[in-house]
Amino acid sequence: MDAQTATLDIVRIDNRHLVLISENRISFIPNVSDEEIEQACVEERRVIVAHANASTTHTQLGPSIAFMPTFDCNLRCIYCYAKGGEDQTSLPLATAKHTIDWTASKTDDPHAKPLTVYFVGGGEPFMNFRMMDGICRYSRERFASVEVVVVSNGIHGQKQRQWLIENKASTRISFDGIMHAKNRPLATHAPSDAIVEQTIKELAVAGVPLTVQLTITRDGTAHMFESIERISSLGARYIKIEPVHHSVLSRGEQSLVPDLEEFVEMFLSSLKRITEQGLLIKIDNSFISRPTSGYYCGAGEGSNVTVTPTGLITSCLEVASMSDAYADTMIYGRCTESGQVVIDDDKRRFLDRLHWRNYPNCPGCNLKLICGGGCPMQGGWDNNDLLNPSAYTCRAHQMLLPKIFAQVFDDPRTVDVVFDNHTIERQC
Ligand code: SF4
Ligand code: SF4
Repeated sequence: MDAQTATLDIVRIDNRHLVLISENRISFIPNVSDEEIEQACVEERRVIVAHANASTTHTQLGPSIAFMPTFDCNLRCIYCYAKGGEDQTSLPLATAKHTIDWTASKTDDPHAKPLTVYFVGGGEPFMNFRMMDGICRYSRERFASVEVVVVSNGIHGQKQRQWLIENKASTRISFDGIMHAKNRPLATHAPSDAIVEQTIKELAVAGVPLTVQLTITRDGTAHMFESIERISSLGARYIKIEPVHHSVLSRGEQSLVPDLEEFVEMFLSSLKRITEQGLLIKIDNSFISRPTSGYYCGAGEGSNVTVTPTGLITSCLEVASMSDAYADTMIYGRCTESGQVVIDDDKRRFLDRLHWRNYPNCPGCNLKLICGGGCPMQGGWDNNDLLNPSAYTCRAHQMLLPKIFAQVFDDPRTVDVVFDNHTIERQC
């Protein structure tokens, strides 16, 4: 990074305070007059240069690969983004091994590098547990070590929980708090909340790196804080709060998506109550990401490698079948029956364009480093245009971020609840 020319965005709060946003860094500076802004920016750039020069850490990153073990699911969530459970196709271990071999063949000295393996839906990964275990075992033969990340609905038994503990798997469990029984019934229509609560409790006690995803429906918006309290009482410390996502591929209707004003209001008041009550939790949300001049996610850039149950390679886990909308764009490779991995380079190159620099209004926006133009697929679903951000997510960033910043000036403890993985400079 050239710190002198690096992007530095300015957000004014109440015409009084200043927030400066740059790569991996947010500075909160109170009581800055208009005349003092330029000097504050000069000083900030000086700090950025000093940090860039002082940075000597070069972490050796290994490759990563995501697997969708199955489309099958033991839940029938009312808003499922993938209609999980309606198709039972599962990924064969042989196909998974071919893609691991392919990943190793593209890696310099794989035996000296870690491989990060993600297990994701749509579908519940543990419905194909034997394959998950097989993938981890095989990956350890091909790479120095394996980091495991699992996104699960929490409906599984003791054996699976033990496996998560033994593999030190970073685990995300979906639990909708007091709306869970209504939102996420079992395939048999029975409620699933008691089972998921037990899973969360056991994983928290065992010290598994755990995040609970709380999905907010329109009906659930008013109950956001009660749901947070319930999750906190289970021992979870990280909660990812997201509004229901809707697309043509979803099971539910658009009417499940929360009203944005209400969502923002409840999010902010929940944040305030967490801070005031000193609840030991951190809140995450896709609207408050680490500032970066890079891509919103690996779908842009074509760095996401997600292997579907039928051996396709997709850049977005929402688009997992050739019959899905945007399959021609997002599915850019496949594993053949003979074990070859074939990549369509033209398709992969198109994905490089899914960056805020190529969207109409983002280059001039002062929130772009945090927002990143939002999820490209959401732009596709909402506007039928991957290069034009979703109005919903754009507005969500523009409403939420300045208000969170204002809350930091009101109560600096807010930083500890909502920001985590990057440098926060706070002079208030
Ligand atoms: S959201 Fe996940 S757990 Fe729920 S039905 Fe879909 S795939 Fe299954
Ligand atoms: S999507 Fe909206 S908020 Fe995000 S960078 Fe673009 S203009 Fe800014």
